[in-house]
Amino acid sequence: MANKDDKFKKVIAHAKEYGYIFSSSEIYDGLSAVYDYGQNGVELKKNIREYWWKSMVFMHQNIVGLDAAIFMHPTTWKASGHVDAFNDPLIDNKDSKKRYRADVLIEDYAEKLLQKANKEIAKAAKRFGEAFNEEEFKSTNPRVLKYLGQREEILSRMGRSLENEDLADVKALIEELGIADPETGSKNWTDVRQFNLMFGTKLGASADTATDLYLRPETAQGIFVNFLNVQKTGRMKIPFGIAQTGKAFRNEIVARQFIFRMREFEQMEMQFFVKPGDEMKWYEYWKDTRLKWHLSLGLGEENYRFHDHDKLAHYANAAADIEFNFPFGFKELEGIHSRTDFDLKAHEEHSGKKLQFFDPEMKENYVPYVVETSVGLDRMFLAVFSTALQEEKLEDGTSRVVLRLPAVVAPVKAAILPLVKKDGLPEVANKIVEDLKWNYNVAYDEKDAIGRRYRRQDAAGTPLCITVDHDTLNDNTVTVRDRDTMEQTRVPISELKKILSDKIDMENWLK
Ligand code: ATP
Repeated sequence: MANKDDKFKKVIAHAKEYGYIFSSSEIYDGLSAVYDYGQNGVELKKNIREYWWKSMVFMHQNIVGLDAAIFMHPTTWKASGHVDAFNDPLIDNKDSKKRYRADVLIEDYAEKLLQKANKEIAKAAKRFGEAFNEEEFKSTNPRVLKYLGQREEILSRMGRSLENEDLADVKALIEELGIADPETGSKNWTDVRQFNLMFGTKLGASADTATDLYLRPETAQGIFVNFLNVQKTGRMKIPFGIAQTGKAFRNEIVARQFIFRMREFEQMEMQFFVKPGDEMKWYEYWKDTRLKWHLSLGLGEENYRFHDHDKLAHYANAAADIEFNFPFGFKELEGIHSRTDFDLKAHEEHSGKKLQFFDPEMKENYVPYVVETSVGLDRMFLAVFSTALQEEKLEDGTSRVVLRLPAVVAPVKAAILPLVKKDGLPEVANKIVEDLKWNYNVAYDEKDAIGRRYRRQDAAGTPLCITVDHDTLNDNTVTVRDRDTMEQTRVPISELKKILSDKIDMENWLK
């Protein structure tokens, strides 16, 4: 645990030191769970957004984009269920006065049981070597069966209680399991209460005519209320999707995990409208497609896992999370939900307008079913950034800090470095910058010895360094140094564009 905490602290410190993430209004001591993206952070975030956008909108002929406003008519949130049901069950510790999400306390307990089971499995795998049959071991070993069975029982009891709004039983479960305040060890808990996560605000100038509004807690509803606008004007035929990225706001109770859980964050959502009855086929399709997208970034297959929901939201008939191995363990990165016709039907009822599709083959109208993919842009950022940050021992005994960001999303693609600040080398380097900047975000750096400049770019996450030296003046070649392998190759200046394109262009990653 100490190790994990340590790693997480390093991630946060590095994100600040290299201009990726700052606390919001830091000079006033910050604002809890709100963050600003610095000069490098804004680029990384924009690149991840674009990587998602292109994979959704450009790669699918039947998916189009949308940019709906953050403010929406207040009835939207009545229809969507957010006014009545967008609650988190919270519990306070009477001794520490700390507030927790009751469901998260229980999920963390269940996660420990899973870890215990995995430990047994790993031990046995080591003991039996080649002959080990994991499936058989899992289904017969009494200890593993006990841990997994307990976990299953706990999660399904919690799911049932939350669904039935039986908060007394959620508290009883916490007490029966002996769950203590993770920070102080105290087991002196209050009752569990529901807490609505939406931020309210007002529209209009005078107190008596002002309308109560909410800051949207998800981008999805902007898509649902525009379903017919897009379908009709875009002449879309089912199945089709609408994709949107944008800010969402939630008054999170427990917000102590850096950009993992923020009060203002950004979502990348796609709602896919399908024929009723086809939803499970598309649900499986999108689970598979989204996992492939994540894997294309090369952060390691072992860092992802699916988690099928025991506790379904009020709108869903199937739901799974793609969980990622963050510095503090596996947690939700993306949700894939089969939302049925809940949202469109609810908006029909509340607005009195039809939100239906006329199927030319079936010759009938129906309210489409929806399969949603919803990923947090900030969580993607954290997944990419925390996995990329590595400390490496080198052959000569020294070590280096390297930020192995996937080149396709790295903020600066190449740094152009004149070996010395004279003899006409800066002029040549600047000419290379001028030539590349139309297609790639490149940087020029002439300060300090070349070795230190390489280290600086490694730590900032720049995939390539291009060094101009005295030989360049004679033969128009430069040295290209690779961040990850530290290999240096001599290449003609005329080949630089091709080298960058091979390494960086989205086509080569998404394919
Ligand atoms: P959690 O259980 O972690 O609170 P959720 O299930 O409420 O998440 P969804 O409503 O499914 O999340 O939202 C979709 C995605 O939006 C999540 O997978 C996550 O990546 C992102 N997200 C949700 N809440 C936050 C937040 N407070 N800060 C950053 N990202 C968030």
